[in-house]
Amino acid sequence: MKFHPAVARPPDRDREGWWFLFHGDRLLVETRGETAGIPFFADPADRGIVPVRTQYLGTLDGLACCAGEIEDPAVPDGAALRSLRSLLGILPEERFVLAGRAFQIVDWERTHRFCGKCGMPTVPVEGERAKACARCGIQFYPRVAPAVIVAVVRDGKILLARSRRSSAVFYSVLAGFVEAGETFEECVRREIREEVGIEVAGLRYFGSQPWPFPHNLMVGFTADYAGGDLVLEEKEIAQAGWFDAREVPRLQIPRRGTIARELIDWFLANPAGAGRGGK
Ligand SMILES: [Zn+2]
Repeated sequence: MKFHPAVARPPDRDREGWWFLFHGDRLLVETRGETAGIPFFADPADRGIVPVRTQYLGTLDGLACCAGEIEDPAVPDGAALRSLRSLLGILPEERFVLAGRAFQIVDWERTHRFCGKCGMPTVPVEGERAKACARCGIQFYPRVAPAVIVAVVRDGKILLARSRRSSAVFYSVLAGFVEAGETFEECVRREIREEVGIEVAGLRYFGSQPWPFPHNLMVGFTADYAGGDLVLEEKEIAQAGWFDAREVPRLQIPRRGTIARELIDWFLANPAGAGRGGK
């Protein structure tokens, strides 16, 4: 599967393609039993769907991909509106990633119809994923908010924590938003210090994952414990501790398809080696 992003539909390309249509933050999917798929059609109007705004995303294996926003929550027979989060692990991975991209663009388009500086309507900038104010010329691009996510390892054990925000008993690696003026490395050290009171060293880049809830980019690192005792930030963290491979609660960790799970799986694949030179 190969996706090629583009901003404008080539004039010779017909309208048929994959349609990522959102009502609010829910995606229109075709459902058959437990499965869900992205609808493929020439024109949403053929199914009685009239998007208020549409965007061209590019091509997936040569087929057009389009996004749009629908105001009417009524859906055709055999279709449903589902939250993106509920489709993680249900949609094929490349479609889920594309749906996340589509959501971020739809959400940006919806929230940047007017200039944030002077209030005049914005207009699309030709050839770019950008909008400009018709009066003052200021340009707006889709927002991406970076967040770091870190697996900290100490003597063959991984640091896992349970957040107060999640109602289920659920353990994961620590994460936090990058602040203005901060490097990823500074953010990792600050977040870990703030949330659990310890120092880390030996940061290594692990990988990244767009996380469209609503427009984050998760940047993963591994790190070694470097000092201090666990002191929890009680408003955020309900519980935190060091888990060896046998102690990791496998039914209470993030699901596959998330970078949080990839970090935990990285540790589980080589608990003794983790923390000594990275993956
Ligand atoms: Zn303006």
